[in-house]
Amino acid sequence: SRGLAQSDPDVFAAITGELHRQQEQIELIASENIVSKAVLEAQGSVLTNKYAEGYPGRRYYGGCEFVDVTEDLARERAKQLFGAAFANVQPHSGAQANQAVFFALLQPGDTFLGMDLACGGHLTHGSPANQSGKWFRPVTYKVTEDTHLIDYDHVAEMALKEKPKLIVAGASAYSRHIDFARFREIADSVGAYLMVDMAHYAGLVAGGVYPNPVPHAHIVTTTTHKTLRGPRGGLILSNDVEIGKKINSAVFPGLQGGPLEHVIAAKAVAFGEALKPEFKAYAKQVVLNAQALAAVLVERGLAIVSGGTDSHLMLVDLRPKGVTGKATELQLEHALMTCNKNGVPFDTAPFTVTSGVRLGTPAGTTRGFGVAEFQSVGHWIADVVTSMNGGDEADPAVIAEVAGKVRELTGRFPIYG
Ligand code: PLP
Repeated sequence: SRGLAQSDPDVFAAITGELHRQQEQIELIASENIVSKAVLEAQGSVLTNKYAEGYPGRRYYGGCEFVDVTEDLARERAKQLFGAAFANVQPHSGAQANQAVFFALLQPGDTFLGMDLACGGHLTHGSPANQSGKWFRPVTYKVTEDTHLIDYDHVAEMALKEKPKLIVAGASAYSRHIDFARFREIADSVGAYLMVDMAHYAGLVAGGVYPNPVPHAHIVTTTTHKTLRGPRGGLILSNDVEIGKKINSAVFPGLQGGPLEHVIAAKAVAFGEALKPEFKAYAKQVVLNAQALAAVLVERGLAIVSGGTDSHLMLVDLRPKGVTGKATELQLEHALMTCNKNGVPFDTAPFTVTSGVRLGTPAGTTRGFGVAEFQSVGHWIADVVTSMNGGDEADPAVIAEVAGKVRELTGRFPIYG
Protein backbone atom coordinates (compact mmCIF):
# COMPACT_ATOMS: atom_id res chain seq x y z
CA SER A 1 0.00 0.00 0.00
CA ARG A 2 1.01 3.61 -0.45
CA GLY A 3 2.63 5.46 2.40
CA LEU A 4 0.95 8.32 4.20
CA ALA A 5 2.82 10.99 2.22
CA GLN A 6 1.16 9.75 -0.96
CA SER A 7 -2.21 8.61 0.38
CA ASP A 8 -2.94 11.64 2.54
CA PRO A 9 -0.54 14.54 1.92
CA ASP A 10 -2.54 16.91 4.15
CA VAL A 11 -2.24 14.78 7.27
CA PHE A 12 1.33 13.88 6.36
CA ALA A 13 2.27 17.56 6.07
CA ALA A 14 0.78 18.35 9.50
CA ILE A 15 2.63 15.45 11.12
CA THR A 16 5.86 16.50 9.45
CA GLY A 17 5.28 20.05 10.66
CA GLU A 18 4.77 18.80 14.20
CA LEU A 19 7.95 16.72 14.04
CA HIS A 20 9.86 19.80 12.93
CA ARG A 21 8.30 21.87 15.72
CA GLN A 22 9.32 19.28 18.31
CA GLN A 23 12.83 19.13 16.87
CA GLU A 24 13.34 22.88 16.77
CA GLN A 25 11.63 24.09 19.95
CA ILE A 26 12.52 23.53 23.58
CA GLU A 27 9.60 21.73 25.17
CA LEU A 28 9.06 23.10 28.66
CA ILE A 29 5.49 21.86 29.17
CA ALA A 30 5.84 19.86 32.39
CA SER A 31 3.35 17.17 31.33
CA GLU A 32 5.08 16.36 28.04
CA ASN A 33 7.97 14.16 27.07
CA ILE A 34 9.62 12.61 24.01
CA VAL A 35 9.00 8.89 23.64
CA SER A 36 11.51 6.47 22.16
CA LYS A 37 11.25 5.19 18.61
CA ALA A 38 10.43 1.77 20.10
CA VAL A 39 7.37 3.24 21.86
CA LEU A 40 6.30 4.95 18.62
CA GLU A 41 6.73 1.72 16.70
CA ALA A 42 4.62 -0.32 19.13
CA GLN A 43 1.89 2.31 19.16
CA GLY A 44 1.88 2.55 15.38
CA SER A 45 1.55 -1.23 15.03
CA VAL A 46 -1.09 -3.65 13.72
CA LEU A 47 -2.38 -4.14 17.26
CA THR A 48 -4.66 -1.17 16.55
CA ASN A 49 -6.76 -3.60 14.46
CA LYS A 50 -7.61 -5.86 17.38
CA TYR A 51 -10.72 -6.01 19.54
CA ALA A 52 -9.97 -7.50 22.95
CA GLU A 53 -12.75 -6.64 25.41
CA GLY A 54 -12.03 -8.29 28.73
CA TYR A 55 -8.66 -9.05 30.30
CA PRO A 56 -5.83 -11.44 29.31
CA GLY A 57 -7.11 -15.01 29.40
CA ARG A 58 -10.73 -13.82 29.79
CA ARG A 59 -11.62 -12.08 26.52
CA TYR A 60 -14.89 -11.66 24.71
CA TYR A 61 -13.20 -12.05 21.30
CA GLY A 62 -11.14 -14.73 19.62
CA GLY A 63 -7.61 -14.24 18.31
CA CYS A 64 -6.30 -12.54 21.44
CA GLU A 65 -3.23 -14.72 22.01
CA PHE A 66 -0.75 -12.00 21.02
CA VAL A 67 -2.44 -9.03 22.66
CA ASP A 68 -2.67 -11.18 25.81
CA VAL A 69 1.13 -11.34 25.72
CA THR A 70 1.61 -7.58 25.37
CA GLU A 71 -1.05 -6.71 27.94
CA ASP A 72 0.39 -9.19 30.43
CA LEU A 73 3.86 -7.75 29.87
CA ALA A 74 2.50 -4.26 30.51
CA ARG A 75 0.75 -5.36 33.71
CA GLU A 76 3.70 -7.34 35.08
CA ARG A 77 6.21 -4.60 34.30
CA ALA A 78 3.97 -1.93 35.86
CA LYS A 79 3.65 -4.01 39.03
CA GLN A 80 7.40 -4.54 39.18
CA LEU A 81 8.20 -0.90 38.47
CA PHE A 82 6.05 0.46 41.30
CA GLY A 83 5.97 -2.51 43.70
CA ALA A 84 2.22 -3.09 43.31
CA ALA A 85 0.19 -6.30 43.60
CA PHE A 86 -2.38 -5.18 41.01
CA ALA A 87 -2.25 -3.21 37.77
CA ASN A 88 -4.86 -2.26 35.17
CA VAL A 89 -3.25 -0.87 32.02
CA GLN A 90 -6.44 -0.30 30.02
CA PRO A 91 -7.55 3.26 30.91
CA HIS A 92 -7.39 5.34 27.75
CA SER A 93 -6.15 8.36 29.68
CA GLY A 94 -5.38 9.73 33.11
CA ALA A 95 -8.83 11.27 33.33
CA GLN A 96 -10.43 7.90 32.63
CA ALA A 97 -8.24 6.18 35.21
CA ASN A 98 -9.52 8.65 37.81
CA GLN A 99 -13.07 8.25 36.60
CA ALA A 100 -12.76 4.47 37.02
CA VAL A 101 -11.71 4.88 40.66
CA PHE A 102 -14.69 7.13 41.38
CA PHE A 103 -16.95 4.68 39.59
CA ALA A 104 -15.53 1.75 41.58
CA LEU A 105 -15.50 3.29 45.06
CA LEU A 106 -18.12 6.08 45.18
CA GLN A 107 -21.82 6.59 44.58
CA PRO A 108 -23.13 9.73 42.90
CA GLY A 109 -23.45 12.46 45.51
CA ASP A 110 -20.70 11.07 47.78
CA THR A 111 -18.27 13.53 49.31
CA PHE A 112 -14.59 13.38 48.43
CA LEU A 113 -11.68 15.62 49.40
CA GLY A 114 -9.19 16.78 46.76
CA MET A 115 -6.63 19.50 46.21
CA ASP A 116 -7.98 22.88 45.17
CA LEU A 117 -7.49 23.40 41.43
CA ALA A 118 -6.10 26.88 42.10
CA CYS A 119 -3.44 25.34 44.38
CA GLY A 120 -2.27 22.77 41.83
CA GLY A 121 -4.97 20.10 41.77
CA HIS A 122 -6.30 18.56 38.53
CA LEU A 123 -9.60 19.10 36.75
CA THR A 124 -10.63 15.51 37.55
CA HIS A 125 -10.15 16.12 41.29
CA GLY A 126 -13.45 17.96 41.65
CA SER A 127 -13.59 20.90 39.26
CA PRO A 128 -17.21 22.07 38.84
CA ALA A 129 -16.74 21.71 35.07
CA ASN A 130 -15.68 18.06 35.34
CA GLN A 131 -17.80 14.98 35.99
CA SER A 132 -16.00 14.56 39.33
CA GLY A 133 -17.44 17.92 40.38
CA LYS A 134 -20.87 17.50 38.79
CA TRP A 135 -21.78 14.00 39.93
CA PHE A 136 -20.02 13.93 43.30
CA ARG A 137 -19.62 16.40 46.14
CA PRO A 138 -16.03 17.67 46.14
CA VAL A 139 -14.54 19.53 49.06
CA THR A 140 -11.01 20.87 48.76
CA TYR A 141 -7.83 21.52 50.68
CA LYS A 142 -5.32 24.24 49.94
CA VAL A 143 -1.67 25.11 50.29
CA THR A 144 -0.64 27.70 52.89
CA GLU A 145 -0.48 31.33 51.75
CA ASP A 146 3.06 31.86 52.97
CA THR A 147 4.93 28.62 52.18
CA HIS A 148 2.75 27.34 49.28
CA LEU A 149 3.12 23.87 50.78
CA ILE A 150 0.21 21.50 51.40
CA ASP A 151 -1.21 22.32 54.81
CA TYR A 152 -1.63 18.81 56.28
CA ASP A 153 -3.33 20.07 59.44
CA HIS A 154 -5.88 21.78 57.20
CA VAL A 155 -6.32 18.52 55.23
CA ALA A 156 -6.94 16.66 58.51
CA GLU A 157 -9.42 19.30 59.67
CA MET A 158 -11.31 19.19 56.36
CA ALA A 159 -11.42 15.39 56.54
CA LEU A 160 -12.79 15.45 60.08
CA LYS A 161 -15.37 18.09 59.22
CA GLU A 162 -16.56 16.69 55.88
CA LYS A 163 -16.15 12.92 56.41
CA PRO A 164 -15.22 12.21 52.78
CA LYS A 165 -15.47 8.68 51.44
CA LEU A 166 -12.31 9.26 49.39
CA ILE A 167 -9.31 11.56 49.72
CA VAL A 168 -7.32 12.44 46.61
CA ALA A 169 -3.65 13.36 46.83
CA GLY A 170 -1.58 14.34 43.81
CA ALA A 171 -1.44 17.43 41.63
CA SER A 172 -0.62 18.97 38.26
CA ALA A 173 1.31 21.98 39.45
CA TYR A 174 2.85 21.15 42.83
CA SER A 175 6.64 21.00 42.74
CA ARG A 176 7.33 19.52 46.17
CA HIS A 177 7.29 16.04 47.66
CA ILE A 178 3.90 14.98 48.97
CA ASP A 179 3.77 13.19 52.33
CA PHE A 180 1.74 10.14 51.33
CA ALA A 181 2.10 8.47 54.75
CA ARG A 182 0.53 11.53 56.36
CA PHE A 183 -2.30 11.45 53.83
CA ARG A 184 -2.96 7.79 54.69
CA GLU A 185 -3.00 8.60 58.38
CA ILE A 186 -5.60 11.28 57.71
CA ALA A 187 -7.66 8.94 55.51
CA ASP A 188 -7.57 6.22 58.18
CA SER A 189 -8.63 8.70 60.85
CA VAL A 190 -11.98 9.17 59.08
CA GLY A 191 -12.30 5.77 57.39
CA ALA A 192 -11.78 7.18 53.89
CA TYR A 193 -10.08 5.60 50.91
CA LEU A 194 -6.82 7.27 49.85
CA MET A 195 -6.31 7.65 46.12
CA VAL A 196 -3.03 9.10 44.89
CA ASP A 197 -2.93 10.51 41.37
CA MET A 198 0.80 10.44 40.67
CA ALA A 199 0.41 11.36 36.97
CA HIS A 200 3.03 14.07 37.10
CA TYR A 201 5.53 12.22 39.28
CA ALA A 202 5.26 8.64 37.99
CA GLY A 203 8.56 8.67 36.11
CA LEU A 204 10.32 10.15 39.12
CA VAL A 205 8.76 7.48 41.34
CA ALA A 206 9.88 4.79 38.89
CA GLY A 207 13.36 6.29 38.91
CA GLY A 208 13.48 6.37 42.71
CA VAL A 209 13.74 10.15 43.10
CA TYR A 210 10.20 10.88 44.34
CA PRO A 211 8.35 9.09 47.18
CA ASN A 212 6.38 6.05 46.02
CA PRO A 213 2.70 6.35 46.98
CA VAL A 214 1.88 2.67 46.32
CA PRO A 215 2.75 1.43 49.85
CA HIS A 216 0.50 4.11 51.39
CA ALA A 217 -2.51 4.53 49.12
CA HIS A 218 -5.48 2.21 48.66
CA ILE A 219 -5.23 3.03 45.01
CA VAL A 220 -2.83 4.87 42.72
CA THR A 221 -3.65 6.33 39.32
CA THR A 222 -1.32 7.82 36.75
CA THR A 223 -0.91 8.85 33.18
CA THR A 224 1.81 7.04 31.27
CA HIS A 225 2.96 9.91 29.04
CA LYS A 226 4.42 12.52 31.38
CA THR A 227 7.65 11.90 33.32
CA LEU A 228 7.11 8.17 32.75
CA ARG A 229 7.79 8.76 29.04
CA GLY A 230 5.32 6.30 27.55
CA PRO A 231 2.43 6.63 25.10
CA ARG A 232 -0.57 8.76 26.07
CA GLY A 233 -2.68 6.70 28.43
CA GLY A 234 -3.66 5.77 31.97
CA LEU A 235 -2.69 3.15 34.56
CA ILE A 236 -4.22 2.08 37.88
CA LEU A 237 -2.25 0.33 40.64
CA SER A 238 -3.11 -1.09 44.04
CA ASN A 239 -1.80 -3.42 46.69
CA ASP A 240 -5.34 -4.40 47.60
CA VAL A 241 -6.43 -7.16 45.25
CA GLU A 242 -10.11 -6.79 46.28
CA ILE A 243 -10.05 -3.14 45.26
CA GLY A 244 -8.30 -4.29 42.09
CA LYS A 245 -11.28 -6.49 41.20
CA LYS A 246 -13.62 -3.50 41.56
CA ILE A 247 -11.30 -1.43 39.38
CA ASN A 248 -11.22 -4.06 36.65
CA SER A 249 -15.02 -4.06 36.50
CA ALA A 250 -15.15 -0.27 36.57
CA VAL A 251 -12.75 0.08 33.61
CA PHE A 252 -14.39 -2.69 31.60
CA PRO A 253 -17.35 -3.04 31.24
CA GLY A 254 -18.06 -0.04 33.50
CA LEU A 255 -16.57 2.73 31.43
CA GLN A 256 -14.75 1.45 28.38
CA GLY A 257 -15.23 -1.03 25.58
CA GLY A 258 -12.29 -2.43 23.64
CA PRO A 259 -8.87 -1.58 25.09
CA LEU A 260 -6.33 0.20 22.89
CA GLU A 261 -4.00 -2.78 22.57
CA HIS A 262 -1.49 -0.89 20.41
CA VAL A 263 -1.19 1.72 23.16
CA ILE A 264 -0.96 -1.01 25.81
CA ALA A 265 1.92 -2.60 23.89
CA ALA A 266 3.62 0.80 23.83
CA LYS A 267 3.02 1.07 27.59
CA ALA A 268 4.77 -2.30 28.00
CA VAL A 269 7.74 -0.99 26.02
CA ALA A 270 7.88 2.22 28.06
CA PHE A 271 7.66 0.32 31.38
CA GLY A 272 10.46 -1.94 30.15
CA GLU A 273 12.57 1.13 29.44
CA ALA A 274 11.76 2.56 32.87
CA LEU A 275 12.95 -0.65 34.53
CA LYS A 276 16.44 -0.14 33.09
CA PRO A 277 19.20 1.53 35.15
CA GLU A 278 19.45 4.37 32.57
CA PHE A 279 15.99 5.50 33.58
CA LYS A 280 17.14 6.05 37.17
CA ALA A 281 19.87 8.33 35.87
CA TYR A 282 17.32 10.09 33.67
CA ALA A 283 14.91 10.72 36.56
CA LYS A 284 17.71 12.04 38.75
CA GLN A 285 18.84 14.39 35.99
CA VAL A 286 15.29 15.66 35.43
CA VAL A 287 15.19 16.89 39.04
CA LEU A 288 18.73 18.33 39.00
CA ASN A 289 17.86 20.18 35.80
CA ALA A 290 14.65 21.59 37.28
CA GLN A 291 16.54 22.79 40.34
CA ALA A 292 19.20 24.43 38.15
CA LEU A 293 16.54 26.14 36.01
CA ALA A 294 14.67 27.39 39.09
CA ALA A 295 17.89 28.76 40.63
CA VAL A 296 18.71 30.83 37.52
CA LEU A 297 15.16 32.22 37.33
CA VAL A 298 15.33 33.30 40.97
CA GLU A 299 18.78 34.81 40.42
CA ARG A 300 17.27 36.81 37.53
CA GLY A 301 14.46 38.23 39.64
CA LEU A 302 11.57 35.85 39.04
CA ALA A 303 9.80 34.07 41.90
CA ILE A 304 9.23 30.33 42.16
CA VAL A 305 6.13 29.17 44.01
CA SER A 306 7.23 27.50 47.29
CA GLY A 307 10.73 28.80 46.61
CA GLY A 308 11.94 25.89 44.48
CA THR A 309 11.31 22.33 43.39
CA ASP A 310 11.85 18.70 44.44
CA SER A 311 10.54 17.42 41.13
CA HIS A 312 10.46 17.94 37.37
CA LEU A 313 8.37 21.10 37.45
CA MET A 314 8.12 24.58 38.86
CA LEU A 315 5.52 27.26 38.93
CA VAL A 316 7.03 30.63 38.04
CA ASP A 317 5.35 33.60 39.71
CA LEU A 318 5.67 36.43 37.18
CA ARG A 319 4.30 39.16 39.40
CA PRO A 320 7.75 40.50 40.35
CA LYS A 321 8.18 41.34 36.64
CA GLY A 322 4.64 42.72 36.28
CA VAL A 323 3.73 40.47 33.33
CA THR A 324 0.95 37.92 32.87
CA GLY A 325 1.11 34.20 32.25
CA LYS A 326 -0.85 34.58 29.02
CA ALA A 327 1.53 37.14 27.52
CA THR A 328 4.64 35.30 28.73
CA GLU A 329 3.51 31.97 27.25
CA LEU A 330 3.10 33.66 23.86
CA GLN A 331 6.37 35.60 23.93
CA LEU A 332 8.33 32.49 24.95
CA GLU A 333 6.71 30.60 22.10
CA HIS A 334 7.93 33.30 19.69
CA ALA A 335 11.38 32.56 21.12
CA LEU A 336 10.84 28.81 20.42
CA MET A 337 10.29 27.77 24.03
CA THR A 338 6.92 26.12 24.71
CA CYS A 339 5.25 26.25 28.11
CA ASN A 340 1.80 26.89 29.57
CA LYS A 341 0.29 29.74 31.54
CA ASN A 342 -0.79 28.60 34.97
CA GLY A 343 -2.40 30.27 37.94
CA VAL A 344 -0.25 30.64 41.04
CA PRO A 345 -1.83 29.86 44.45
CA PHE A 346 -4.29 32.62 45.43
CA ASP A 347 -3.89 34.21 41.99
CA THR A 348 -6.17 37.20 41.48
CA ALA A 349 -5.77 37.25 37.68
CA PRO A 350 -8.49 35.50 35.62
CA PHE A 351 -7.67 31.86 34.83
CA THR A 352 -7.50 32.74 31.12
CA VAL A 353 -4.73 35.23 31.92
CA THR A 354 -2.96 34.04 35.13
CA SER A 355 0.12 35.35 36.89
CA GLY A 356 2.35 32.37 36.25
CA VAL A 357 3.82 29.86 33.87
CA ARG A 358 4.53 26.22 34.60
CA LEU A 359 7.88 24.90 33.41
CA GLY A 360 9.19 21.34 33.35
CA THR A 361 12.38 19.53 32.42
CA PRO A 362 11.27 15.99 31.38
CA ALA A 363 11.35 16.55 27.60
CA GLY A 364 14.55 18.59 27.53
CA THR A 365 16.29 16.03 29.72
CA THR A 366 15.22 13.23 27.39
CA ARG A 367 16.92 14.96 24.48
CA GLY A 368 20.10 15.19 26.53
CA PHE A 369 20.07 18.59 28.20
CA GLY A 370 22.01 18.75 31.45
CA VAL A 371 22.40 21.45 34.08
CA ALA A 372 24.43 23.77 31.81
CA GLU A 373 21.79 23.67 29.06
CA PHE A 374 18.97 24.35 31.51
CA GLN A 375 20.92 27.22 33.03
CA SER A 376 21.07 28.72 29.54
CA VAL A 377 17.35 28.13 29.10
CA GLY A 378 16.75 29.95 32.41
CA HIS A 379 18.71 32.97 31.20
CA TRP A 380 16.88 33.01 27.87
CA ILE A 381 13.49 32.91 29.61
CA ALA A 382 14.61 35.74 31.89
CA ASP A 383 15.92 37.73 28.89
CA VAL A 384 12.55 37.48 27.14
CA VAL A 385 10.49 38.23 30.26
CA THR A 386 12.68 41.16 31.31
CA SER A 387 12.44 42.67 27.84
CA MET A 388 8.62 42.68 28.18
CA ASN A 389 9.11 45.60 30.58
CA GLY A 390 5.87 44.90 32.41
CA GLY A 391 3.87 44.81 29.15
CA ASP A 392 2.56 42.12 26.82
CA GLU A 393 5.29 42.09 24.22
CA ALA A 394 8.95 41.25 24.37
CA ASP A 395 11.63 43.21 22.48
CA PRO A 396 11.71 41.67 18.96
CA ALA A 397 15.50 41.87 18.91
CA VAL A 398 15.67 39.81 22.12
CA ILE A 399 13.19 37.28 20.73
CA ALA A 400 15.24 36.92 17.54
CA GLU A 401 18.47 36.54 19.46
CA VAL A 402 17.05 33.94 21.88
CA ALA A 403 15.34 32.02 19.06
CA GLY A 404 18.70 31.80 17.31
CA LYS A 405 20.31 30.38 20.44
CA VAL A 406 17.46 27.91 20.90
CA ARG A 407 17.86 26.68 17.30
CA GLU A 408 21.57 26.24 17.85
CA LEU A 409 20.99 24.23 21.06
CA THR A 410 18.19 22.02 19.73
CA GLY A 411 20.32 21.41 16.64
CA ARG A 412 23.03 20.02 18.91
CA PHE A 413 20.52 17.73 20.69
CA PRO A 414 18.49 16.24 17.83
CA ILE A 415 15.43 14.03 18.31
CA TYR A 416 14.18 11.36 15.93
CA GLY A 417 17.15 12.13 13.67
N1 PLP B 1 -4.13 13.68 36.68
C1 PLP B 1 -3.20 14.64 36.72
C2 PLP B 1 -2.56 14.96 38.04
C3 PLP B 1 -2.84 15.31 35.55
O1 PLP B 1 -1.94 16.30 35.61
C4 PLP B 1 -3.48 14.96 34.34
C5 PLP B 1 -3.12 15.60 33.06
O2 PLP B 1 -2.83 16.70 32.91
C6 PLP B 1 -4.47 13.98 34.35
C7 PLP B 1 -4.75 13.35 35.53
C8 PLP B 1 -5.28 13.65 33.13
O3 PLP B 1 -4.62 12.92 32.20
P1 PLP B 1 -5.16 12.83 30.69
O4 PLP B 1 -4.85 14.14 30.06
O5 PLP B 1 -4.42 11.67 30.13
O6 PLP B 1 -6.62 12.55 30.77
